[in-house]
Amino acid sequence: FRLVEPLARDKEAKEEIGLRPRSLDEFLGQEEIKEKLKVFIEAAKNRGEELDHVLLHGLPGLGKTTLAYLISKELGVNLRATAGPVLEKPGDLAAILTNLNPKDVLFIDEIHRLHPVIEEILYPAMEDFKLDLVIGQGPNARTIKIDLSPFTLVGATTRTGLLTSPLRDRFGVFIYLDFYTPEDLQKIILQAAKRLNVKIEPQGAAEIANRSRGTPRIALRFLKRVRDFAQIKADGVITQRVADEALEFMDIDKCGLDCLDRKILRTIIEKFNGGPVGIDALAAAIGEEKDTISEVYEPYLVQKGYLQRTPRGRIATSTAYQHLHIKITKGQQG
Ligand code: ADP
Repeated sequence: FRLVEPLARDKEAKEEIGLRPRSLDEFLGQEEIKEKLKVFIEAAKNRGEELDHVLLHGLPGLGKTTLAYLISKELGVNLRATAGPVLEKPGDLAAILTNLNPKDVLFIDEIHRLHPVIEEILYPAMEDFKLDLVIGQGPNARTIKIDLSPFTLVGATTRTGLLTSPLRDRFGVFIYLDFYTPEDLQKIILQAAKRLNVKIEPQGAAEIANRSRGTPRIALRFLKRVRDFAQIKADGVITQRVADEALEFMDIDKCGLDCLDRKILRTIIEKFNGGPVGIDALAAAIGEEKDTISEVYEPYLVQKGYLQRTPRGRIATSTAYQHLHIKITKGQQG
């Protein structure tokens, strides 16, 4: 069920934007982070200065893009958004930087994937709001310095360890987004249901929340699919029973694991004797991208205790065996 066609994905992306919180107060959960941000934003505004550069760190779907947008909104400035892999030439970044208005927010998603040459342009830009551009080639080459408007860089990354230290050192505010509690996800689902005009009972929202891997993006995607199910198979109201049936239908189990989660665990157990197995061998056996496994799937499996990451590789825990109803035989890990 995980695979979505490109067109469907486009439509989902648009719908997702429609559901985006419009103020920090609509950004539910993560109270400490909001408190911290509000203080820094207020202080910068009172001084009439730009906000310090902010590094957002967290797994996909936990709200990094949303926070970047809300930061610009609370500051009352424009947001320019781009992503590490999109910036190919130094000129691409230079064009964006020279077009910023004073105190604007520049959001760079996947900032750990910036090309090293482009990253170097960013250093003086972040530090002194200056751009060093090399014009021409060979003996005629010369460097020109351009003054930039002071701006706030908001960078997003799935792991801070992926950033080079000179880049990391130039951020003043660090924010780590962790998985959401089921209670917070329930509130997020109820808020979105209101906006989508979907009838849902609190227990229905709780059922979806419990199976959404602590991730708002997944919770919202499930809400929309459960809505479809409720419309066709029930009388349009999402009760706990409807949510349960719909998620079952989507092959999401009671613990929120989908077929690929289970395939990862089953492969480690059945093909690699419970592990340890290296990520490359595992990815090849499953036929999935290594990064997808390690950045999208594994963190939740690790957090819930189904999987251990050790220096020698991945190990399926006894919880994984129990979950899949597989007996641990002698010589297997667990
Ligand atoms: P990321 O950039 O970390 O991948 P996004 O900011 O795109 O995640 O968030 C994914 C979706 O979840 C968006 O539709 C967003 O509106 C919603 N969302 C994320 N965090 C929250 C939150 N704390 N409260 C309400 N909605 C949220």
